[in-house]
Amino acid sequence: MAAIPVSSKYPCAQEHIPMCIKHDLNIDMTCEDCDEFICSQCAKTDHKDHDWKTIHTAGSLRRRELKKTLSKVKEKDIAEIDEKIQKASKQKVGNKKCCDSEVSKLQKHYDAIVSKLDEIKKNLETKLVENLERKNAEVSKKNLGLEKKRERIKGLVEFLEDKHGTMSDYSLIDNLRDLTNLVSNTDSDIERGDHSVRYRGGDISEGSLDSIMGHTFDLDDFSVTETDSFQYGDKCLDVLEAIDKDICLVRAHKSDCFERMNIRNKKKEKSNICGNEVCVTDKDDFYVTDYTNHAIVRVSPSGSACTVLNTAPLVPAGICQSTDGGLLVTLVDDDTETFHPDSKSRRVLRHVTLTGDVIREYEYQVDGQTRLFTLPYKVRQNSNTDICVVNSTSQSTGELAILSSSGFLKSVYHGQKLTFDPSDVVFDSHCNIIVSNCPTSQIHLLSPDGKFMKYLLTENEVKHPYSMSLYQSTLWVGDDKGLIKVFQFNNT
Ligand SMILES: [Zn+2]
Ligand SMILES: [Zn+2]
Repeated sequence: MAAIPVSSKYPCAQEHIPMCIKHDLNIDMTCEDCDEFICSQCAKTDHKDHDWKTIHTAGSLRRRELKKTLSKVKEKDIAEIDEKIQKASKQKVGNKKCCDSEVSKLQKHYDAIVSKLDEIKKNLETKLVENLERKNAEVSKKNLGLEKKRERIKGLVEFLEDKHGTMSDYSLIDNLRDLTNLVSNTDSDIERGDHSVRYRGGDISEGSLDSIMGHTFDLDDFSVTETDSFQYGDKCLDVLEAIDKDICLVRAHKSDCFERMNIRNKKKEKSNICGNEVCVTDKDDFYVTDYTNHAIVRVSPSGSACTVLNTAPLVPAGICQSTDGGLLVTLVDDDTETFHPDSKSRRVLRHVTLTGDVIREYEYQVDGQTRLFTLPYKVRQNSNTDICVVNSTSQSTGELAILSSSGFLKSVYHGQKLTFDPSDVVFDSHCNIIVSNCPTSQIHLLSPDGKFMKYLLTENEVKHPYSMSLYQSTLWVGDDKGLIKVFQFNNT
């Protein structure tokens, strides 16, 4: 900055001519490239090849354009700011709506808790009242007996008082014995009828109440920061499966085998894991789907491969380890129309043991007729045991089906307003769902029940994300042009 600072920030009509501190010359030029006032010496040195003019010439030019300049500001710039102001007030309305809806969720949950508590309270009350009724019925019965006994005693006493003179000795003794028996048999354990059920309150610990009431969390706390990237090739990255925070198995489109990609030293290494989709079990075995041979193949850590399940005539597509230690595999027939399944089509999610024994199969909804899937090509199980299936419904659209572990369709996520064609799904440590939408270059963050929360990544960070893998807090994203990006994912 060569010019002496202007004395006041506010515009004024006349300004004294400042001097260049560097060259001690009048500042009488302006550099259009740097938007700076300069002296003639500056023009020859620091701004040599720039577009500079005398202040007079530049001023005349500005005057000529002034009307246009100001009307552009009035018509365009101010209009743009107006639009932003309107957007901001809309945002406030939207925020209010969002807050209200969260508050009403809280109220609903609270009401549900209160009604459950009410039910429990009623049950406890019933136990107390039932005991009262039972005990008092016993007491009444006993009372009745006592009253009867009292009448008999009174009767006998009166009889003896009246008749003892005319009574034989034998009769007198006999009657007195009866009286003694009656009196001594008087039932005295009236305490047996005491109310015997007691109530004792449980601990009101804040921790357990908090966990029942739920908690709030801030979507701004979910953040992803790019930490690394690598151009793997130029083909779409069909599958990524991270083995640890540095190494990921990668399979590019049309390739038959996986390579190990080390993001830290940027080295690719051949692996003997061949197939289409892969999952790593907690025992470090790899299970691979093999489209061509209709098989699920196990590749041991030492590298030996063996077929554990022949799926013919069905083609295995997606695979993942199930939370019970088995496998979940999606299977598709290849002799009916891909996106128009008919009654002969098979579009199945199969739950099998690691040795290939079938545990269960899911193909239809509860009505037994509506198919769960059109083309289920990726599957992953959340740690809350929900099963998420990426289900292609046409060449360019799809959905994310969320099933309970027993195969009940809990919800289907269809994306936001724009085209939704999900390509992969992963879960964070709080069971939130992360799903990539290739066509719009967005990665959506969903709640465990499949409700949209926010865009985790947009086209500024990822272009056409196709495959993902989340290892602890390391999120790997592979795109359709061979670029791998690694992000640090934070959710607290
Ligand atoms: Zn100068
Ligand atoms: Zn310049």
